[in-house]
Amino acid sequence: MTGKVYLIGAGPGDPELLTLKAHRLLIKADVVLYDRLVGKEIIELIPESAEKMYVGKAKSLHSLPQDEINSLLARKAKEGHMVVRLKGGDPFIFGRGGEELEELIEEGVPFEVVPGVTAAAGCAAYAGIPLTHRDYAQSVRFLTGHLKDGTTELPWEELVHPAQTLVIYMGLTGLKDISQSLIRFGMSPSMPVAIVEKGTTREQRVFTSTIQDVYDVSVVNEAKSPALLIIGEVVALQSKLEWYGKY
Ligand code: SAH
Repeated sequence: MTGKVYLIGAGPGDPELLTLKAHRLLIKADVVLYDRLVGKEIIELIPESAEKMYVGKAKSLHSLPQDEINSLLARKAKEGHMVVRLKGGDPFIFGRGGEELEELIEEGVPFEVVPGVTAAAGCAAYAGIPLTHRDYAQSVRFLTGHLKDGTTELPWEELVHPAQTLVIYMGLTGLKDISQSLIRFGMSPSMPVAIVEKGTTREQRVFTSTIQDVYDVSVVNEAKSPALLIIGEVVALQSKLEWYGKY
């Protein structure tokens, strides 16, 4: 009998941000394939009896190519196992969840998707930055700073827009380019920016600056991946609303 694949979002790091559903499924899995961004404490929840497989990617060091991950998921389920595919954050936000499901559909393998707290929500909350606010931002936009072809060609004109918060995933490598392009397309050089490194974990660091200075700030502080960029007036609230590790 064919098993099933559960595509599960593990949230951004803090194990307590795992959903009850994710937790219930994880602790009875037969096979778990997990990524680099899944927190250590969450990996520890995987039962001893389960086959644990790390398939994560450090940047440009893919430990298993995407198509092999896709077929491995299908194969393990076809052997009758309950397979959990665990991804950082939410599986449908810059998580290639869609690509993995397509292969399962082709092979007739049943699946379910369990959403997770995406880095934008987790990092914003733990940094004390409301992504929307009636006075400062009526919309929020999630972008990736790292395109499939390796460039950072984003729709700059649309990004320089009043009352809009930008959240950029994978934005650290292209940070210099991103900040210069936004200024060139009209963003005020004093626009507040936050870099949230390892958000929601005990090692979280938050650096606030301006779009003009953010690159230098990242260099001086040796900001490292995983890091999220939050750009917009709402970032100015951080000094007032910051709470994590404080109380
Ligand atoms: N599916 C994930 C995103 C995967 S892309 C989600 O929904 O969150 C990987 C990028 O997510 C990282 O480069 C970083 O920009 C961001 N990210 C994920 N976890 C993070 C964390 N704990 N702190 C800061 N950024 C994080």
